[in-house]
Amino acid sequence: NASRLIGKTVLITGASSGIGAATAILFAKGGSNVILTARRADVLQKVADECTAAHKAAGMQYGGKFVTVQLDVSDKSQINGFLEKIPADLREVDILVNNAGYVVGVDKVGDLSMDNVEGMFSTNVFGLIALTQLLVKGVYLNLRLQLLLSFVDFKKRKTGHVINLGSIAGREAYAGGSIYCATKHAVNAFTGALMRELVDTPIRVTEIQPGMVETEFSVTRFRGDKSAADKVYEGLQPLVAEDIAEEIVWAASRPPHVNLAEVFVLPVNQA
Ligand code: NDP
Repeated sequence: NASRLIGKTVLITGASSGIGAATAILFAKGGSNVILTARRADVLQKVADECTAAHKAAGMQYGGKFVTVQLDVSDKSQINGFLEKIPADLREVDILVNNAGYVVGVDKVGDLSMDNVEGMFSTNVFGLIALTQLLVKGVYLNLRLQLLLSFVDFKKRKTGHVINLGSIAGREAYAGGSIYCATKHAVNAFTGALMRELVDTPIRVTEIQPGMVETEFSVTRFRGDKSAADKVYEGLQPLVAEDIAEEIVWAASRPPHVNLAEVFVLPVNQA
């Protein structure tokens, strides 16, 4: 039921393009407030404006708020104190979408640059862990305290939700993708453990595992070579960012007692 999204506050990392941007817009359409974060502040503002337009076009009376906060998830100093940068009325985040992530290069292990290895782990894994910890320790602590209040009816309890972007690369590994696959396997292990740790709380944990999605992702992967990026999609129809946004929003809009633990989404002709 999409009405479950009305008035919720969603924090999305990597909301300036691709899946993150499409997800922000879809939550806005559904009546949620969205805190959009990424490194490129100017692009982020354009997506926030699209959220406002989509919210209005959907006839939402709620008056959702769409704010941008610049954040490089790989920079520890930016994570500490990040919550204070969010306007006070939006700090009770209901849904965290850990989406920021990338791969640069299809490099064999012997050709890897350690700077590149560290960059991918810092963003795809350490950033995701740090932001999750911030929410689980801080904002979501209130949710856990609710459990001590036996008079709060289960159905009326406020819920939390951590949604992490894994990948098909977190389920299998391919030559030239050792580091990206290792980061997404790490996301898979972290997400599974988190879900089990929070099992007695009203906090849900979901991992979305897309196959090929046509976004800026593959241009980054091929170090800006658009024609090499396009070749990846030859002979198949890739997913688009909106396909994944729909799965994320679907998971978030399930009844509070339902947790979609893993959602593996492929183009119909990718095996
Ligand atoms: P895009 O390249 O379009 O988007 C990536 C987003 O991450 C951008 O908004 C970028 O914003 C942000 N980002 C990158 N590094 C950082 C950082 N250090 N701090 C904050 N934000 C950062 O790719 P997708 O939308 O395709 O990818 C989104 C997620 O989906 C990723 O985790 C990716 O691994 C995963 N995925 C993608 C697949 C695909 O085929 N496209 C398949 C499976 C999973 P900015 O540059 O402004 O910081």
